[in-house]
Amino acid sequence: MNLLDKLDAAAALRKAQLPEAVGAFGIPIEEVYSSTEARIGENRVLLFGTNNYLGLSFAPECLKAAHEAIDNEGTGTTGSRMANGSYFGHRELEREFADFYQCRESIVFTTGYQANLGTIAGLVGPGDVALIDGDSHASIYDGCTLSGADVIRFRHNDAADLDKRLRRLGDRSTVTLIIAEGIYSMLGDQASLADIISVKNKYNSLLLLDEAHSLGVLGDTGQGLVEKTGMMEGVDFITGTFSKSLCSIGGFCVSNHPQLNQLRFISHPYIFTASPSPATIASTRAALKLLRNGTKLREQLWKNAHQLYSKMSEIGYKLGPEPGPIVAAILDNPKQALALWQGLLEYNIYVNLILPPAAPENKSLVRCSINAAHTSEQIQYVGETFAKLYTEIGLD
Ligand code: PMP
Repeated sequence: MNLLDKLDAAAALRKAQLPEAVGAFGIPIEEVYSSTEARIGENRVLLFGTNNYLGLSFAPECLKAAHEAIDNEGTGTTGSRMANGSYFGHRELEREFADFYQCRESIVFTTGYQANLGTIAGLVGPGDVALIDGDSHASIYDGCTLSGADVIRFRHNDAADLDKRLRRLGDRSTVTLIIAEGIYSMLGDQASLADIISVKNKYNSLLLLDEAHSLGVLGDTGQGLVEKTGMMEGVDFITGTFSKSLCSIGGFCVSNHPQLNQLRFISHPYIFTASPSPATIASTRAALKLLRNGTKLREQLWKNAHQLYSKMSEIGYKLGPEPGPIVAAILDNPKQALALWQGLLEYNIYVNLILPPAAPENKSLVRCSINAAHTSEQIQYVGETFAKLYTEIGLD
């Protein structure tokens, strides 16, 4: 089989698995009206499948900052952070993240994906160990591959299993980077951070926490799980993204270890890519201010999340283990998930469809992401539609 034949075989497999799935992935959005509504095809739909947790994608402060940056600094930096791509805004944003987390060091990357790649591959290498939660995001897996370190998975959110694996590593636990996530993107559950940190301390390893989905969502000022749990001291590196609560694109890593700064000179995903555009940096800085002062937005977000989670569990859907902005219905098979997803779209609701092997344990998910801008009426409509489809599809 040549290289192109292999792609044809993969396409055939995909079609055989999901003949009707055409359109489920990479769905064309024709127009965006707000952080909760858009047009798909001819229909105005409710957006319940975005990571826009604080609903800031049209915040006037962010729009204004982005416009001004385009006018003053142009459309792109046309260069790497390492060369000509570190403008005043990039450096200010790093200072602002360091201040936000009260951390000594902070690095801004071009995407959240690259923040994980660059940080992981900068910290561990051949001979070291990356000990990662089994449900880790692809960017964590890819960072590990890039690093050349030995990759070991511990059972999802299971500190006892983590302990067992570190014990087996013996002396190598001191060259081990443990990696967990604040909120896991598939089922919306939170890391058992206190347990993970106490195991980490026992074996003298380092811990990286990806707060991609928890930044802006957890903690009084929105730092994430570190703030909610008061465990900042126990985490060595925090990575995160600008593409969710901050509504732009980019990523960061903060740490109290001064050595983080060295990554600027060795980390390929930092060096060999162009830096974020001035407009991106400007809107992110404006959004970070709103996020830090966003107590009301967080309260609304959690109220909305509880409204949908309790409605869906009342209907009888099997859900992720705890309420939160990610509410995932777990279906028995891809066919059911697809039927539910299509049914929702017919009622003008867009959510995410996740099919094997993308979800943990080969689960099929219909995943909703709630944001602070959703109204109670919109959530009620979504809940009622889920209820109708529960019987229509025969899930009862
Ligand atoms: N980490 C996690 C846990 C994620 O879910 C994502 C994106 N879905 C990323 C990192 C990558 O972020 P970005 O899309 O901003 O590159």
